[in-house]
Amino acid sequence: MNFENTEIAFRQKSDEELKQSYRLFRLMSNSFLAKSGPPLIETALKMGLPVTSLIRKTLFKQFCGGETIEECEETIASLDKGYVGTILDYSVEGILSESTYTLTTEEIVRTINRAKNDRRIPFAVFKLSGVIRFKLLEKVSSGTTLTNAEQVEYFKAKGRINHICKTAYDAEVPVMFDAEESWIQKAADAIALDMMRLYNLEKAIVYNTYQLYRKDKLPLLENDVFLAEREGFVLGAKLVRGAYMDKEREKARQEKYPSPIHTNKDETDKAFNEALAFCVENLKDVAFIAGTHNEASCLVLTELMKKHNLPEDHAHIYFAQLLGMSDNLSFNLSYYGYNVAKYVPYGPVKQVLPYLFRRAEENKAVTGQMSRELALLAAEKKRRGI
Ligand SMILES: Cc1cc2nc3c(=O)[nH]c(=O)nc-3n(C[C@H](O)[C@H](O)[C@H](O)COP(=O)(O)OP(=O)(O)OC[C@H]3O[C@@H](n4cnc5c(N)ncnc54)[C@H](O)[C@@H]3O)c2cc1C
Repeated sequence: MNFENTEIAFRQKSDEELKQSYRLFRLMSNSFLAKSGPPLIETALKMGLPVTSLIRKTLFKQFCGGETIEECEETIASLDKGYVGTILDYSVEGILSESTYTLTTEEIVRTINRAKNDRRIPFAVFKLSGVIRFKLLEKVSSGTTLTNAEQVEYFKAKGRINHICKTAYDAEVPVMFDAEESWIQKAADAIALDMMRLYNLEKAIVYNTYQLYRKDKLPLLENDVFLAEREGFVLGAKLVRGAYMDKEREKARQEKYPSPIHTNKDETDKAFNEALAFCVENLKDVAFIAGTHNEASCLVLTELMKKHNLPEDHAHIYFAQLLGMSDNLSFNLSYYGYNVAKYVPYGPVKQVLPYLFRRAEENKAVTGQMSRELALLAAEKKRRGI
């Protein structure tokens, strides 16, 4: 397995697109710009300045498929040329009310229906906080008794989730629950398991996400696999390290409870790789997706598969990355026959800004990711002589 092959990694990009990506990653590597860019853009938008088209041509083009499902068609086709699947991710954040929860639910249902009978779109995905009020999830997670009105609200919200999962089941399109802050995850995990008990009897349709940066998640994963085996369903598991580390630590510090996050990166890495091994050893009861940009973890998984004599395209094992990132992993893995898919975020430009700002933030020069992406793009530019 060689993740350095930039010819395979960037085959889908024209010379011009490659140069654009290179310029964008160079800009993002400037810590000052990465830090001051987002607030400047927000101010400009509030002042009515025409920055939307600039964002559309830069960050949005790199990390999103389009504003609508239809606009993602080109990306779906392009990823498919490299044998990489698409996971349509409706990434609108921020505008939350009972009516938007219903609209978001309908949009997620549309992504599932779009994926039906299209092998190029192997999964659907959604965030629970996009369809249930965050504070309500938090209250349920804390174990506090709900008022009568809240019980009705929660009942209706669970109806929306069931609608999504039932649509996925009927369409035979697996759907993933993304994981969010630990203070809402208890409720989210319980709903996900309930849905699996309903819809995962023959195969994994509902997948929950396990954030291995949390100290309690490896034992929970092991417990859930045990439950699946005992109760006769297939556990669907997306394994990730976790995206809310600073927020988690800050809240724990402010509210004076022990941080749920591993004390250092090595411990998170160890837990993630152990989770991979545990899943590979229990493939009868679990279907899983390794959602990671970490090269070492991808290698660990390919080695584990070899060790267990598993075919590269085993139906219970997928690798997944985000659009616009780690193409060297996605396209090299798919080139060697592994199952790979990429999240393709979409939504109106202004409403996916929080998502885009997070990508810019994590691609600052200080993180290993940035220098890696930039180095790979530079290597491919050199190879093409452009
Ligand atoms: C397809 C896909 C789906 C995803 N879905 C989700 C999701 O549903 N929910 C979610 O929260 N995230 C999700 N993520 C994001 C993911 O959790 C990571 O934040 C991101 O991918 C970076 O981790 P990595 O495995 O790629 O590797 P790396 O870049 O090697 O690891 C970085 C991660 O390690 C952990 N870490 C870093 N420093 C420390 C430290 N000092 N102590 C302890 N841990 C540390 C953090 O989790 C950090 O994000 C997803 C990522 C992908 C690719």
